[in-house]
Amino acid sequence: MRARGVVLAVVLAFGASAACAAGPARADASGLVELIDNLVRRGDETPQTAIDSITELSSTDAAGSPLLRRTAIASVGIVEARNGLNAEAMQQVAALGALGRSDPLAEADAHLVRAEIEVNGGHNEASYQQARAALSTFAELCAPNARPASDCDYREWWRALDLAQRGAADQGNSVVAASYAQTMVDVAHRAGDRPREAISLGIGALQAEANADSVTANRLMAQAQHVARMDGSPWVQVRVAVLGGLLHFRRQQPEAVQRDYEAALVAANAAGLKRPAMLLRANLADAYIHEGRPADALAAIDLALPVAKQHRDFRTERLLLHNATLAKLALHRVAEAKVEMAHVLELWQKDTGPGQRQEALREFSDALAKAGDTAGAIDLFHKEDALSKEIRAANKAAAEAELRARYDQDSQKRRIELLGRDNLLKSAELANQSLTRRLWMFAGAALVLLGVLALMMYRRMRELNRTLVKHEALLRAHSERDALTGLANRRQFREVMRVRGGERAFKGALLMVDVDHFKRVNDHYGHAAGDRVLVEVARRLSAAMRGDDLVARWGGEEFLVFAPNVDGAELDLLAERVRLAMNQAPVMLDNGTAIETTVSIGYAAFPLPASHVQVTWEQAVNLADLSLYTAKNQGRNCAVGIVRTTAVSSEALREVEADIAQARHDGRVTLRVSPEPPAADGGHPPRGAGLAPERPSAAAGSLRPSLDLT
Ligand code: GH3
Ligand code: MG
Ligand code: MG
Repeated sequence: MRARGVVLAVVLAFGASAACAAGPARADASGLVELIDNLVRRGDETPQTAIDSITELSSTDAAGSPLLRRTAIASVGIVEARNGLNAEAMQQVAALGALGRSDPLAEADAHLVRAEIEVNGGHNEASYQQARAALSTFAELCAPNARPASDCDYREWWRALDLAQRGAADQGNSVVAASYAQTMVDVAHRAGDRPREAISLGIGALQAEANADSVTANRLMAQAQHVARMDGSPWVQVRVAVLGGLLHFRRQQPEAVQRDYEAALVAANAAGLKRPAMLLRANLADAYIHEGRPADALAAIDLALPVAKQHRDFRTERLLLHNATLAKLALHRVAEAKVEMAHVLELWQKDTGPGQRQEALREFSDALAKAGDTAGAIDLFHKEDALSKEIRAANKAAAEAELRARYDQDSQKRRIELLGRDNLLKSAELANQSLTRRLWMFAGAALVLLGVLALMMYRRMRELNRTLVKHEALLRAHSERDALTGLANRRQFREVMRVRGGERAFKGALLMVDVDHFKRVNDHYGHAAGDRVLVEVARRLSAAMRGDDLVARWGGEEFLVFAPNVDGAELDLLAERVRLAMNQAPVMLDNGTAIETTVSIGYAAFPLPASHVQVTWEQAVNLADLSLYTAKNQGRNCAVGIVRTTAVSSEALREVEADIAQARHDGRVTLRVSPEPPAADGGHPPRGAGLAPERPSAAAGSLRPSLDLT
């Protein structure tokens, strides 16, 4: 079996196993560091001697510089790690960690030692991690223009780079590995360290090849061989030869590989480099088995195995035992091989992943089949098959777990998304609800406000309406009342007549009252005095009437009284009362002037007896006015009433109206005059003189018997 880790380990081990002289001790720290570096390389052969020497060097040096202290601890750690002394190496890691609190480079060295421990244990990935942790500090503090300047030793950086390129290559990341290799070249070249430069160039060649760049690979390998030759150290030449072998191995040129390894082995043996020789033999043995040279393989393994055990190189020991088993099977030493096989399988089981175990089982199974042990082969085949199933199941479980995890993650995400959407919906719904609520509240408030406004407006309108009605009533009252006397005017009278149906058949009594010789009052006392007289006449007239009678000012000094419920006899008395109410006392002006006032009255009650012919109110007024005219003609200060008429139709009555005097004369109408005029001289007494100093003959308040003039 060929394991890449083991092959690379050869490269490393060669680099550390040169048995070169330590040279004259130099007092300064950097000189001591160089000496320690050589001791580290020697530690691969004789670890304890190297460790003791390093410890002695660091303790005898008085400088006590951090660089020296750090380098000494790290170097001891590296030697221990490379010889499988892991517990001891971890003590150095702890010591470096303590120093690391004040010195970041010591901290980086701690990572470096741990990377060495991991790589020696075959844990390439863990080693890569530690190497990168170390590199983050070295790249910063060891760079040529590092700020702040530090006492970094380039070898620390170079070692970390070497481990990192191995880790990257192990992960199949050859581009990154090539870049690390290039930095290694630069670091070594800058320091004038030819051995490291040559090795770096060889490693660079391998990485270039991995990147399918054979031209660069060839160029770098040639450079590596050139620098190694210039350096002249056998260990460097051995190592570069191994790198050349690996290059051929990559190119699948097994004979060239074998030739290179054999040449390198000769050189290593000549230089007394036991450990590189051991590793070369391990790889050669592998090559021999695949070439069908089991005896040669077994011979190489027999020489290598004790050295691997001595250096506690567990990985190489396992590989050697594995290949030894295969060789013995090929040599048909089946029984012996099967015993060893069980041991080797246990080793694989103990320390490696199922992949490597499966490969080991397959190789053993094939070898058993070839050796004729079909049963054994089948048994291993079943074991391999079971392992394969186990691997597949594990892979499946892992894939399922990953799928499940992804599904869980997805469904969780989806749940959260749904929840979020749900929440969004809910909050939208809530927002809607509150909006609706607010809208309703707003609408309600608006409605209430509108209601209040409407109520206020209604009240205001009602108020305005009332005022309007009041104003109208007032206006109407004003227009219907006579402004001077306060009595009803002609218009109101007419309205009352209309309402009472007086337009067709008028019923009730009418008295037309006219102030006698009123013009004289105006002329004599003035218009205002005339007004005063008119007001007094109106007052006395109203006082003479009953509540349901209507007293109106008909014109200038003319008044019309409508008494709806007065019969004939009452009417005569009423007319006389009105006449007397006027002349019984003079009208007194404010200046003390007394104005004698009399009135003439014409009156009648309708329908007129005895025919009771129907009349309109206007006809009735006309008949009353005609009676008044008669009263004026009788000498004034008297009342003339129509007692009866013979007219049985309206036409006949109109004829009476047309000439009442003639009708009276013809007996078609009977009038009553009060007071009765004196008949002695056939003339009328002077009546209603107004200004006449003499009082009328009729005694005030006394009613004389009426006289029928018919
Ligand atoms: P008679 O006895 O024939 O009725 O004579 P008279 O002077 O009373 O009648 P006439 O028709 O000749 O005169 C009426 C006068 O009344 C004329 C007019 O100036 C006056 N008059 C009418 N209205 C008013 C008024 O409101 N105030 C005053 N002061 N005089 C008025
Ligand atoms: Mg008149
Ligand atoms: Mg008059």
